[in-house]
Amino acid sequence: TREWQLVRRPQGEPVPEDFRLVDTERPDPGPGEVAVRTIALSVDPYMRGRMSAARSYAPSWELDATMEGATVGQVVASRSPDVPEGTLVLHGLGWRDVAVLPATSVRPVEPLPGLPLSLYLGVLGMPGLTAWAGLFRVASFTAGETVFVSGAAGAVGSLVGQFARLRGAARVVGSAGTPEKVRWLTGDLGFDAAFDYHDGPVRELLAAAAPEGIDVFFDNVGGEHLEAAVSAFREHGRAALCGAISAYNATEPPPGPRNLTQLVGKRVRLEGFLVGDHADLRPDFLATVPGWLREGSVQARETVHDGLDSAVDAFLDMLLRGGNTGKAVVRLAPD
Ligand code: NDP
Repeated sequence: TREWQLVRRPQGEPVPEDFRLVDTERPDPGPGEVAVRTIALSVDPYMRGRMSAARSYAPSWELDATMEGATVGQVVASRSPDVPEGTLVLHGLGWRDVAVLPATSVRPVEPLPGLPLSLYLGVLGMPGLTAWAGLFRVASFTAGETVFVSGAAGAVGSLVGQFARLRGAARVVGSAGTPEKVRWLTGDLGFDAAFDYHDGPVRELLAAAAPEGIDVFFDNVGGEHLEAAVSAFREHGRAALCGAISAYNATEPPPGPRNLTQLVGKRVRLEGFLVGDHADLRPDFLATVPGWLREGSVQARETVHDGLDSAVDAFLDMLLRGGNTGKAVVRLAPD
């Protein structure tokens, strides 16, 4: 089988030479184990953190070891009666074409008639639950409020804006990195306003897009976006701090927002969160989002790269070039 390994810890922006694709002998599954052939694997921003030796919420990857991540695949050999051959499963050992792991470490999933299984890596998986938990629980969004989401054309951000619209937001505003993404947000996704953050100071762009201010900020980007949101907040605003991708390749600590004193008078709450702490919301989430998807109220766009060879490119394209619209995935085999 073939697997991607981390061979060097990136300094600043990762480069292809930090990774290598190796051929290895995978053992046959032992008692209680299954072998899963990858159909699609996920590349996600948090993986940048796992490449670094610095402590963060997910443990660092070992050097010269195969990387991990969310994957959907099909069981091709099984020594577990609970997960027979042919079962479609989700598991956490991505970045390889075949994984051998305990049957207790895989989660069986239903086929999605007419839809790709890779949606379990996006709208129906971790990014979808992140959008749901961050918007509804952490930011306590309620109907009639104005929501601003950064990284709005990405996997999580594009869902935040759509969920807010479907649940009665007064106004949904997004920022993204290209004019095409901005058009997608205000066109297909029904955002009320969107801007390209390269077009000027974010504070000014946001003030123009949300002239009455914002109640909720869902932050995927950090830095200048967070400072702009602090200025735009109305009283009792809330921010769900989901990520700060603008700083993931920084070699020096980035400057913090310079206007935090405004939080006092405005009584604003900023709260960081991790999706893993909100697994109890999954039943709610799964009771609603698949229906929205089937009826076409939610669009779950993907940017698909083909083949295991393209996995590092797919990751770098997402992290460094904003090459993805919607969820970045790597497809290894047809569903
Ligand atoms: P995305 O699909 O949004 O992909 C990353 C996007 O980030 C790129 O497409 C790019 O789009 C944008 N980007 C890259 N560099 C910058 C920059 N310097 N400034 C502004 N935007 C930039 O990824 P996800 O939806 O998977 O993740 C979004 C965020 O959510 C990340 O910060 C991630 O770490 C976080 N996250 C947090 C979780 C949690 O539990 N807290 C769980 C899941 C994700 P563009 O063209 O617009 O620049």
